[in-house]
Amino acid sequence: MPGPMRTPRVLRGARLTDRSLVDVRLDGELVTEVSPAAPLSSVLGDHELDLSGFLLITAPAEPHAHLDKAGSWDAAEPPFGDLIKAVDSWRAFSATESEDGIYRRALAQATAMVQAGTTAIRSHVDLLGEPDPLRGVRALLRVQERLASVLDLQLVALGGEWTPDEVFEAALDAGVDIMGGVPHLAEDPSAELRRNVALADRKAVPMDLHTDESLDGPLTIREYARLVRGRAQPASAGHCVRLGTLPAKELAEVIAEIAAADLGIISLPITNLYLQGWEHPVSTPRGLTALRALLDAGVRLGAGADNVRDPFNPVGRGDALETASLLVTAGHLNLHESLTAVTNGARSVMSLPLAGPTVGAKAELLAVRAESIGDAIATGSADRYVFHEGRLIAQSHVVQELALEPLGVLA
Ligand SMILES: [Zn+2]
Repeated sequence: MPGPMRTPRVLRGARLTDRSLVDVRLDGELVTEVSPAAPLSSVLGDHELDLSGFLLITAPAEPHAHLDKAGSWDAAEPPFGDLIKAVDSWRAFSATESEDGIYRRALAQATAMVQAGTTAIRSHVDLLGEPDPLRGVRALLRVQERLASVLDLQLVALGGEWTPDEVFEAALDAGVDIMGGVPHLAEDPSAELRRNVALADRKAVPMDLHTDESLDGPLTIREYARLVRGRAQPASAGHCVRLGTLPAKELAEVIAEIAAADLGIISLPITNLYLQGWEHPVSTPRGLTALRALLDAGVRLGAGADNVRDPFNPVGRGDALETASLLVTAGHLNLHESLTAVTNGARSVMSLPLAGPTVGAKAELLAVRAESIGDAIATGSADRYVFHEGRLIAQSHVVQELALEPLGVLA
């Protein structure tokens, strides 16, 4: 069994996604050497960690979470159903939630994600109703501070057409990093989109909007791309479900504008699979964005878990390998594309530096018990070591027992 967590300087015998076996040296926050694995001696130095049997990958980043909503399903008792039902249910439940209640659920979810290997999270936080619209913001700022040594937590101010300018501004002044919004849910989506961009410009902050989260509703992403093109701060768009239903010619035109604006796209398969398609009992659509066309056009693509066990999605583990698995089965990305979308693809959309087991990259690493990238995504073993800024910050060890004589070599 493992001893207390001491940060090793050399990770021995780890397998990379190209199947090679390597030793990886860490120095400060960086990976400084990756070399072919030397034979392991029976006694490891106390600055070494034996990663035989583990796949070493870039630590996942979650580009679109709702930590303030996570884990509320059982208490909220929402109906099964689509986005509008979920919005209504969450609105009723959140009116009863205190800052401390939000803090406790958010901290539990973020901690579980770190334990599973995610070392950076971008979470939207709802601007709530009066009399205290910023109680969710304060709760998530407390989570950010509490987990500062193990997690990069970015916060996005999430409000709709019902949210006054002053509340958005107060959230950004309080320490929220990014301007958010849901223009596709507004009576006048274009007007709400322009208000979102104007607010972000006034505060000179990055933008990350929920965009076109429906199969046949408004298409706002084209105007969004035009409005943020040439902007000094980065911009991204989550969901973009509508893109997945556009005819090929129109899709190509819109994607060209997304690429020209360098708008990062965030796919959220588990929540889209749950919320979309309820009105189509036959040949139910998947509701994912146009993943293949976006990748082919060179658009920066990240993927995340979005809602976890709340009115918007009753299930999910907040494990990036679960998201990667859905990108394979529901999104038809290959294994490498899927893993990249939840690691360095997500980091790119989040404006974080490149990380992973590469010389000169930031030492944000996840070692998971697996023989290959397909094995890791398929099994999602809980046997893991997590490194943040070059330090070992979490480990989990699975003990399995079976009442059967050892099988030995199978004939
Ligand atoms: Zn969302």
